Amino acid sequence: MKQSYNPYDNVLKVVQDAAAILGYSDSDIEAIKYPERELKVSIPVRMDDGTTHVFQGYRIQHSTSRGPAKGGIRFHPDVNADEVRALAAWMTFKCAVVNIPYGGGKGGVVCDPSKLSENEIRAITRRYTAAIAPLIGPEQDIPAPDVGTNAAVMGWIMDTYSMLKGHCIHGVVTGKPLELGGALGRNEATGRGVMFTTLNILKKLGIPSEGTTVAVQGAGNVGSVSAKLLHEAGLKVVAISDVSGGIYNPDGLDIPAILSYLAADRRNLLKDFNEDGTTHISNEELLELPVTVLVPAALENQINAGNAEKIQAKLIVEAANGPTTSEADEILAKRGIKVIPDILANAGGVVVSYFEWVQNIQSVSWTEDEVNKKLKDIMDAAFESVWDLTQEKHTTLRMGAYLIALKRVVDAKSARAIWP
Ligand code: NAD
Repeated sequence: MKQSYNPYDNVLKVVQDAAAILGYSDSDIEAIKYPERELKVSIPVRMDDGTTHVFQGYRIQHSTSRGPAKGGIRFHPDVNADEVRALAAWMTFKCAVVNIPYGGGKGGVVCDPSKLSENEIRAITRRYTAAIAPLIGPEQDIPAPDVGTNAAVMGWIMDTYSMLKGHCIHGVVTGKPLELGGALGRNEATGRGVMFTTLNILKKLGIPSEGTTVAVQGAGNVGSVSAKLLHEAGLKVVAISDVSGGIYNPDGLDIPAILSYLAADRRNLLKDFNEDGTTHISNEELLELPVTVLVPAALENQINAGNAEKIQAKLIVEAANGPTTSEADEILAKRGIKVIPDILANAGGVVVSYFEWVQNIQSVSWTEDEVNKKLKDIMDAAFESVWDLTQEKHTTLRMGAYLIALKRVVDAKSARAIWP
């Protein structure tokens, strides 16, 4: 990954710009510039070959002003403190823009799950959970899946935490397997929210969804579900990629076939997928395709000053966190390309995580239809309020989302006042 930039600088820039529009003083936002709490941990693991390897991990809580910290855990070789800080802050603003009672947190372990056995991943997860146990809990900080982690990992976190406390604690983590109190609909929630948001913006812009072309970068949880649901909604998904590269067919890809190939084995990669009419392209080429909708659903810093001039999409729906840098944002805005910001577009995951946590605390379970309907209500309402404010202030959708989110965080901080 291109790592010459610091994603936390992106967060600070947009917060400062939003604060200026809202007329806030430096004092109003000073505390928001710093994460509340950071923990760095070393995780010794006995590897399958008998050697001991020490992995580095983090858990960072950006804000707990509006509720417990909430945010995913990433297992990826590029994890670093600034990335986790940025991801934690984005969670603060994401929970605020959809108005659910959480602050923001994030965690990560520097490791490459594609090179680890299941035993090793479980051992990392358990020892990491034990190391961050003083910070997490249903009332303090609730992790969830992110890049490189999944429901199985969340199940091991729940088990480890419960073992340490001596009793079963479902609500410590969300995105769990259904058998452990996971919510119906959680696995698809982020992609479903991306689909709702895409349909909402197409409607506002008067673009029919049927046959509208889409390119999706990333084919993990978020990318694959986004591609599936956009395909089912009638859009034409012409390209999709993973870490190995992408595939492209201007007439539309057979998304169900591609997704069942990827789901068959976690080692299956798109570079080995061949189908009549498809060509193999790089991740960089995918971003520059002549499509109506571009859905970056992989990592940060994908659309940057180096390629923003070459983007041909009319709309970018940020399914990933932080895929567009501040410099690229300015270039895209000048070029009239609309960007639906991550804190709005991919909020579906944390909304259904919130539903899971509510169900765990109350020991109740909702049907999948109930979950999907409640998710749609929240995503649609958040989209409408961001859209309306953007029109009123003649600004970008990112700024509209941050104006709403920052105000909610600042209002909560000021209502609590500074302790002591
Ligand atoms: P995942 O691990 O399930 O999938 C990641 C995908 O990105 C894989 O297809 C992988 O091959 C691909 N990838 C990895 N490195 C890449 C690279 N250098 N170039 C191109 N593709 C690459 O992760 P996910 O949960 O789908 O998360 C994807 C993005 O969505 C992240 O930015 C994450 O923070 C964000 N997000 C996830 C959730 C969630 O519920 N999982 C919620 C909100 C936001």
